[in-house]
Amino acid sequence: MQKKFATCDWCKKATFVQPLTYLDGYTNYCCDSCKQIALFDVKCFNNEELTMQKNKLLQKSAL
Ligand SMILES: [Zn+2]
Repeated sequence: MQKKFATCDWCKKATFVQPLTYLDGYTNYCCDSCKQIALFDVKCFNNEELTMQKNKLLQKSAL
């Protein structure tokens, strides 16, 4: 995992951050101290995204 010096998207501090990519391709950067929360946030978002995609598929197949 490559790190770069940038602003953490969670605590807004300028520090070394690592990229976290969402299911929709959007990338946020988090520092070490926010990593746990950040990973959880991304996981929740991805779960919602997956649920939405599944619902869309279900709606299509119901037609
Ligand atoms: Zn942070």
